[in-house]
Amino acid sequence: MSRVYNFSAGPSCLPEEVLNECAAEMLDYNGTGQSVMEMSHRSKAFEPIIEDAEAMVRKLMKVPENYKVLFLQGGGSTQFAMVAENLGIHTGKAAYIETGVWAKKAAKEAEHLGVKVDIIASSKDKGYSYIPKVEKIQGDYDYAYICFNNTIMGTHYEYIPDTGDIPLVADISSCVLSEELDVSKFGLLFAGAQKNLAPAGVTLVIIREDLIPEVENCRPGTPTMLAYKTHSENGSMYNTPPCYTIYVLDKVLHWIEKNGGAAGINKKNVEKANYLYDYLDSSDFFRATTEKGSRSLMNVPFLTKYSTGSEDEAAKAKEKEINDKFVKEAAAAGLVNLKGHRLVGGMRASIYNAMTLDGVKALVEFMKKFASEN
Ligand SMILES: *Cc1c(COP(=O)(O)O)cnc(C)c1O
Repeated sequence: MSRVYNFSAGPSCLPEEVLNECAAEMLDYNGTGQSVMEMSHRSKAFEPIIEDAEAMVRKLMKVPENYKVLFLQGGGSTQFAMVAENLGIHTGKAAYIETGVWAKKAAKEAEHLGVKVDIIASSKDKGYSYIPKVEKIQGDYDYAYICFNNTIMGTHYEYIPDTGDIPLVADISSCVLSEELDVSKFGLLFAGAQKNLAPAGVTLVIIREDLIPEVENCRPGTPTMLAYKTHSENGSMYNTPPCYTIYVLDKVLHWIEKNGGAAGINKKNVEKANYLYDYLDSSDFFRATTEKGSRSLMNVPFLTKYSTGSEDEAAKAKEKEINDKFVKEAAAAGLVNLKGHRLVGGMRASIYNAMTLDGVKALVEFMKKFASEN
């Protein structure tokens, strides 16, 4: 068996140790004679798993007592609706910072559900290659919304906007537990698991208790399943939770703890990202697409010198040929899923928590060789 270095933006690589433990327990979890996949979520064997997962999230993220930790389904995308349905209920107005695809989708969903959305800042002017500086957010907003790490654009907030009394909501799908984060600065945090936490299927939500309305006080027409109250009252077991995914999540959380928690993991992430950005900034063949001061530690889009922005057909064909060649030759060398998102073009290396420094070094070695040959 040979494992590849997987640079996928999500679902993405998981720690090998965790996969091995899952494999060892596949047929018989903890002497139960069953796989966790086969168990009732209300069983004596499963309940400690979900309880431990919650305790580990609380411990690793230092979640204050007055916040609920929920394990939901529907991915990050369902949170775009739940945030609006549950929080957009007083003035019906919300402030959004537009930093790329995921922030735009969230704003569009809120609008679709009747919330009045103000785009108070945007980095559209430069193709979302940076994070706008919005030190203070004021107004009669029910909430303010940011996408903290922009998976597609490769940008990340290096500050937390001051919103005063306005609850700040952040999508942390692609940076959760990649760094230390002061939960108390936010009203609500959410993360689809498949980037940094687990396989696809569970979404972590951390919400300040006083922001959870009664089901009937959500926006009109909100389905029971889309009310946070439904899940917070029932320990995320109103209906069947994604049991197996939560089990893997719990193992990943223990792996993070063993690696020094959020602070320890962050140190490694900084080292990995610097290694790649330093090469990109020094190369005359490759370049990063994002501005310094806004760069993601997790998602690193990059272009080659053949990406000139020219509309000339021959130049565009050459650009495509080089990008395709890079992705194909990298895959043959065991470096997979490096194709860039179509909106940015070029390549993208996602280097989440589970990607090793060795993986990043292998990528840079490959890039040096590719640059010298092309
Ligand atoms: C992947 C991603 C999403 C969407 O997640 P799904 O689980 O596919 O709905 C939302 N926001 C960010 C920042 C993401 O990276």
